[in-house]
Amino acid sequence: MTNEQKKYVYSFTEGDGKARQLLGGKGANLCEMTQIGLNVPPGYTITTEACLSYLENDNTYPDGLMQEVREQMIALEKLTGKGFGDAHNPLLVSVRSGSAMSMPGMMDTILNLGMNSDTLQGEIEQTGDERFAYDAYRRFIQLFGKVALGIDDEYFDEPFEAIKKREGVKEDVGLSTDNLKEIATLFLEVVHAQTGRAFPEDPYEQLDLAIKAVLGSWSGKRAVDYRREFNITPDQANGTAVNICTMVFGNRGDDCATGVAFTRNPGTGENVFYGEYLVNAQGEDVVAGIRTPKPIAQMADEMPDLYRQLEELRSKLENHYSEIQDFEFTIEKGILYCLQTRNGKMNTQAMVRTSVELVEEGLITKDQALMRIAPESLEQMLFPRLDPNANVSALATGLPASPGAACGHVVFDADRAVALKKTSDKPLILLREETKPEDIHGFFVSEAILTSRGGKTSHAAVVARGMGKPCVAGADGIEVDVMARRAHIGEVVIKEGDIITLDGTSGNVYLGAVATVEAEFSDELKTLLSWADERAQLKVMANADIPEDAERALKYGAMGIGLCRTERMFNAADRLPIVLEMIVSDTLEQRQDALDKLLPIQRQDFIELFSTMSPRPVTVRLLDPPIHEFLPSENQLIDDLVQLKHLKDTMRGSEVLTATLSLLSGQNGTMTSIQQLADSSLVDEAIEKKEAILKKVRALFEVNPMLGHRGVRLGITFPEIYAMQIRAVLEAACECQKAGIEVHPEIMIPQVCTSEELRNIKVHVENIRLAVEEEQGIAPVFKFGSMMEVVRACMRAEQLAEEAEFFSFGTNDLTQATFSFSREDAENKFLPMYNEAGILQDNPFEVLDANGVGKIMELAVNWGRGVKPGMKIGICGEHGGHPASIGFCHSIGLTYVSCSGPRVPIARLAAAQAALQETA
Ligand code: PEP
Ligand code: MG
Repeated sequence: MTNEQKKYVYSFTEGDGKARQLLGGKGANLCEMTQIGLNVPPGYTITTEACLSYLENDNTYPDGLMQEVREQMIALEKLTGKGFGDAHNPLLVSVRSGSAMSMPGMMDTILNLGMNSDTLQGEIEQTGDERFAYDAYRRFIQLFGKVALGIDDEYFDEPFEAIKKREGVKEDVGLSTDNLKEIATLFLEVVHAQTGRAFPEDPYEQLDLAIKAVLGSWSGKRAVDYRREFNITPDQANGTAVNICTMVFGNRGDDCATGVAFTRNPGTGENVFYGEYLVNAQGEDVVAGIRTPKPIAQMADEMPDLYRQLEELRSKLENHYSEIQDFEFTIEKGILYCLQTRNGKMNTQAMVRTSVELVEEGLITKDQALMRIAPESLEQMLFPRLDPNANVSALATGLPASPGAACGHVVFDADRAVALKKTSDKPLILLREETKPEDIHGFFVSEAILTSRGGKTSHAAVVARGMGKPCVAGADGIEVDVMARRAHIGEVVIKEGDIITLDGTSGNVYLGAVATVEAEFSDELKTLLSWADERAQLKVMANADIPEDAERALKYGAMGIGLCRTERMFNAADRLPIVLEMIVSDTLEQRQDALDKLLPIQRQDFIELFSTMSPRPVTVRLLDPPIHEFLPSENQLIDDLVQLKHLKDTMRGSEVLTATLSLLSGQNGTMTSIQQLADSSLVDEAIEKKEAILKKVRALFEVNPMLGHRGVRLGITFPEIYAMQIRAVLEAACECQKAGIEVHPEIMIPQVCTSEELRNIKVHVENIRLAVEEEQGIAPVFKFGSMMEVVRACMRAEQLAEEAEFFSFGTNDLTQATFSFSREDAENKFLPMYNEAGILQDNPFEVLDANGVGKIMELAVNWGRGVKPGMKIGICGEHGGHPASIGFCHSIGLTYVSCSGPRVPIARLAAAQAALQETA
């Protein structure tokens, strides 16, 4: 098809409601609503293809576009009986953006287009309402001036506010017709002064400029930033459509109104009608938070018949879309119009609740419910709440606009927030009178948002909810003074940097930091995740090292422990001195002595862990890090020794001892007390110990410790260390078994690269098993497996599978090894630049690199299972909790993923979605 023939414009009666890519979400829905018989003002949509062509061709329309637009305008004139530019019965239109993915407030909109000095008279003639006509006129001049002519709002706000002040009115409705006339005249002067030409009177010129402004807003900074932040890619949304729609007016008197509504409460998901409206107002007044709107329920008293119609519209929309809708309506002279609808953006609590309830109501299937929620968003349900026992009283209260509690340092504008974030990692709370789309970068860097004006559907509320950040809106007891960087709440003054806490669930604001508590799983989330488990093929395990973590992981639905890093068990205060003793030992006997002390401690750890998780599997990874990680640094030791020697030389009684106490007692378990220190021989002893440690630190020094003496290499060179751990696991298993507790421990060997290494350790395992069995009179049940985190191990998976009963991919190290990127340094050195330059799409330590690391894993899975069909193979690197990476793990047929406890719910849902996507 040639360009000349291409159709770029569709009327609402002909556009395909499913063609979101072509018509944008808003355009497609306007077509669909029109075609299912809802009362939508007539209009048409310019396609996203027209937008792309316009932007690609140096802001030139594709051929024939304006011809199509003119034809549509003529059709609109016929339908409405009005004329575009007609001085007696003028047709006015709105011009709105709308891409395939919702980007609320990011692109431009113009209302009342078609107004000029002639049509203004026509409007007065038609409506008999001079005030209304001037009100529409001044709004149009300002909006058109800003959007199409690029004039800053402040040039209009200044004279507007001055007149309001002069007249002593707070809200626009208090302005008289004469005031509005004066404002319109001043606005026309502003346009002239700012653009050097008169305001365009020709409606087609206005339309042309408006369409260009909307098309251009696709590549505006706001929209580009938004797409980058929310990862909206060109295949999800490419270009904006332009919707041109006959104007209907909610500001033509007291039988007119405008509002925004959700078919259910988007904060809680509760099945109650939710929204706000304003009598005698235009839609932008509700969204901009200029006037504080009324809750929708109040309309039942104020306009009962229209409220009934609105309820009908609500249920029609939800039944048709099988999804919660967020819609805009206008009532003009008693007639209800639906101006737009889209799927409601909700916080996760509400998404989960509505998913379960929509299934119960028969509107969607369980599978659809599972696909409805982004797994990552479940994190929101783990948000902290204010500690219910915290005895605090609120300083101010606003509307609970987006749930969750947050505490941070107050900042009064978005730019400042970004600047502060660059210099410090302190949490911030953005406090504004109201927010606008241009504040979006401030949202990104803030923990929560607080506004003193606007409702639950104000910009601040909608955007914060979408981001899952807590928000309190319309806290009108707060007076914000942005210039002075302070706010007043009664007598209290809050300055930039002061700490406040806000609770987006109750709407309360507190001075200072208030304690928070962990969130609880809702019943709906439990139900949803139980459906997920029915669908998922991957099992979801947790990485947990201590019984408390294991308990938490169980609460999150972990099906076992996929990785217990035993070295973390050594970090507790009662163990570190013994570990130190083990490390500094010069002889096997000394080392064995220390290990004998560690054995009962480790055994008890495992008994607790196994019993907590019973009857689920627990994978115990034997010691992995280089042992010098348990020792202080060389510099630290040298400093300590200098001070100790100085102390020895100058020791004059107990006054110097206090200063030295920490030096002697704090460092990795050198044990002493202030009384003992009175004896200078103990200082000698401390010096001796530090020197021994220093000697060891120097002896253990490695240039590349991550590639050094660690993991199985330690197990082979110091077999007594692994022997102690193996014995602790097997004895703990026997003790549990004897107590009737079903346990499934798995011994896992880290850093393996050859099957010989596994065979070497297996010999010890077998000997210890025989000994334990004989001592305990019961055969311990366990499995023996290998981590797959060294490239060579993956390449030799066939040989390793001969020795191991299971594999677990350690993708942290495997990624490090595959890329030759240090996992400790890459992320704060060159990786961000790699991502920005597009050299790497993602951070491979976060998102599994399916093409490289993933390929190696796939080969290893196939080779391993070639030898041992159905072999249990999992992943325990950080990627095990990342949704897209989980999708990949499913695709290569892994048995399980293991991730940190709080990510278990996310992984369960992601695992279900991976399975569902495969069958879709
Ligand atoms: C890994 O390397 O992916 C792994 C799980 O082990 P660690 O992070 O402890 O090195
Ligand atoms: Mg590792």
